[in-house]
Amino acid sequence: MDDKQLAYEAMCAGGDVGKPTPWKKKDQNPGAQRRVLWDDSTEGGEEDITLPEEDEWLIWAGGPGRKQALLRFNAANLDDEPPDPIGRQYQMLFKMQNTDSKLFRRVMDVHGISESSASVSDFNILWTGVHPKPFVLRNLYDYQRVNHFPRSYELTRKDRLCKNIERMKYIRGAKHFDFIPPSYIMPTEYQEFCSAFLKDRGAWIVKPVASSRGRGIYLINHPDQIPLDESVVVCKYIENPLLVDGYKCDVRLYVAVTSYDPLVIYLYEEGLIRFAAVKYDQSAKMLWNPCMHLTNYSVNKYHTNYVQNDDAEVDDYGNKWSLSALLRHLKLAGEDTTRLMQDIEAIIVKSIIAVAPTVTTACKMFVPTRKNCFELYGFDILIDSSLRPWLLEVNLSPSLGCDTPLDSKVKSAVISDLFTLIGVPAVDPGRARQVKQRQRAVVRVRAPSMDSVPRGGKPLRSALSAEEARIVREVREEDARRGAFIRIFPAPETWSLYSCFLAPVNSHLNQMLHEELYPHTIGGPQGSSGPRSLCRKSSSIPSLSITSRSRSERTACYERPLARGSKDAFVGAGEGGRDAAERATERLTVKREIIEQMQRGVRMSRYQARLAFSFYLQHIQRRLMCNMEQVQGSGQLELVLRFIRKAARNLTDAYAIQTPGRHFTPVEKAILIAKQLGDFIHLYNRETLEHVAPRESPALLDAQLHKQFVTGASESDLEEALTLHTSLFNSADLFLGRARAREPASRARTAPSSAATDETTSVARTDEDGAPDSETARARQTGALSVGNLLKTSLRDFPAPAGGGRDRVRALNKIYR
Ligand code: ADP
Repeated sequence: MDDKQLAYEAMCAGGDVGKPTPWKKKDQNPGAQRRVLWDDSTEGGEEDITLPEEDEWLIWAGGPGRKQALLRFNAANLDDEPPDPIGRQYQMLFKMQNTDSKLFRRVMDVHGISESSASVSDFNILWTGVHPKPFVLRNLYDYQRVNHFPRSYELTRKDRLCKNIERMKYIRGAKHFDFIPPSYIMPTEYQEFCSAFLKDRGAWIVKPVASSRGRGIYLINHPDQIPLDESVVVCKYIENPLLVDGYKCDVRLYVAVTSYDPLVIYLYEEGLIRFAAVKYDQSAKMLWNPCMHLTNYSVNKYHTNYVQNDDAEVDDYGNKWSLSALLRHLKLAGEDTTRLMQDIEAIIVKSIIAVAPTVTTACKMFVPTRKNCFELYGFDILIDSSLRPWLLEVNLSPSLGCDTPLDSKVKSAVISDLFTLIGVPAVDPGRARQVKQRQRAVVRVRAPSMDSVPRGGKPLRSALSAEEARIVREVREEDARRGAFIRIFPAPETWSLYSCFLAPVNSHLNQMLHEELYPHTIGGPQGSSGPRSLCRKSSSIPSLSITSRSRSERTACYERPLARGSKDAFVGAGEGGRDAAERATERLTVKREIIEQMQRGVRMSRYQARLAFSFYLQHIQRRLMCNMEQVQGSGQLELVLRFIRKAARNLTDAYAIQTPGRHFTPVEKAILIAKQLGDFIHLYNRETLEHVAPRESPALLDAQLHKQFVTGASESDLEEALTLHTSLFNSADLFLGRARAREPASRARTAPSSAATDETTSVARTDEDGAPDSETARARQTGALSVGNLLKTSLRDFPAPAGGGRDRVRALNKIYR
């Protein structure tokens, strides 16, 4: 424990954390009622303290004499906003970095936690879309919470997940870790992949190593179709997925890890089932269709077949179901859902165990206290037709988007329960800073820290150190606040099932914790049997009644409908119940203001221009998917394809473009091109983040006004504004960027099949010559293109391709011809 945390301990002990004081000595507050929140009498003598009532806002934690107030989060507050939320009294702050989420903001807001301004470094909660930097972690106070562990990417990057599971197969036995489809990392494992392909032909799926939402994913059926100049993972495609009414689906599960050493893992009792929009067809000729083979919401949501679920209580309707609804459906069909959920729990625990040593080591290096970091992982599981679950990937920041009442219900419950579970101390971070300045003096007078000496007397058990006693207490307290999270590790059966997979660095505290929580499930006296000898196959679980009861009880929780969460808080959030006419008037006013400002010489920064362009492209993508029939013959598809192909040259990351073959129907073309436009937008947005939002300046559009405009504008509003901006400031490359020269090596490594090359290259040649194909030319002449002038302008304004251009066109095969 360093000086800083000591100072914090001092603050807590002295009630100097902020207003109101979390607890007071009895004589300071004679009227208050005495409360002891858990009966841990073995932990030591109790100090005579008085605490205010545990109420709807606060939960008390900590050993006797060290009580700490934690915030209680409640999803019901989202529907019925409390007038004076507790976080406001403590002036609590959150910080958000590299991500945004309406849901997260709203949960913070209704609990009185405000966003800290960029210039203020204080915060209680840091919610970030990327891994925090080591110096951020090192400087955390005891009361601060960050939503990622260092090196969590060992689990969440697709290539690292494969490597870690491969390693476990090697050292612990392949049969225990055979839950991810055979996978190869390109280009390094190309030869191994070819050998595997010869043994197991059929479909494989190509995924960028660090992407999400189905972006950049496609199916192949020959090694020639793999790009060798990109980091991708190629996985065996599971060709026999579980179908419901003929549609493929996958499962999104929410998994919270509150500690890596000891390992403490919770699975939320409710999850979401995502369905593809097009009925499944195993034949090779349909491999091109992302809306049949990928179940991501973002891939399918604009498809004309997609059915939104508009009632959270009818959770087995449309293209998104709840997990409990699927389990009930399977149970009715006579399937063994208990076994299914046990297998899923095993996958979660084993995959986290696989990365635990690395994360634990990083935590020891960078993270000051055990409670600073937590994770909410999004596990994606595919169930096959024999009800075997497969792990597809683990998401670092699972989407908190709420497009339907069901999303809203489940995700608001997950987030509210998550913050109660991790325990967010009610601390004024501003006051903490002041105390930090006094910390030297505090350190000099303080007794040794609680890590070395148990406060208030003897430890929990004579065999336990103070630190171990504290861990046991904290895990028990945490479990008492778990809401609808279910602790799946440690659990009664987990020592016998998984101890043999734990690395030595993770063995000691895990064994200690199991012994304390489930003494009769640990075989033999402590230390007499090594972890390896205790491990059992999951099918031969010990016949302890406590074990089996606990597992079936857990399955019952997964099957029951979720009884919490806010159904309406986020669907159409931000509209505040206003009617369409009001919104249209406001949109028009904002647009006029923007146009007037631009005419007065106020311009968009690069960041703003790119953001506006991205919103514009998203409108186009949506239109392609929603009006598939209408776009045919208009030349729009060809124009968009040409645009993506040219614009992709300006991206830093290589992007393989797939050209629909001549036999594709217009609808099929629209699906494929819209998917690729979505992939492009994602890469484009990622690069936009590099152009940091500029400081306020009178020469630039006001940030708030710009945000209001882009988020509310229609496609034609955006087109008008961007076209005006381009002509006033001659600034097309502000949002389009400039083509970059490509490494010759990357060209050389591309090895497409010759037949496919012919076709895709011929299209590319047309582009490079600047001679539009006849359909596009006709569309331009007739002005029928509602995709608009801007896209055409952008095609004209593109600088000549510096790297030859043809290298950007990947010959992707027989599938796309
Ligand atoms: P992303 O992070 O982009 O969502 P995933 O690995 O989750 O990537 O894959 C996206 C979708 O593709 C999944 O939801 C699933 O429907 C499908 N998918 C991925 N891998 C496989 C596979 N090996 N077999 C069958 N379908 C798969």
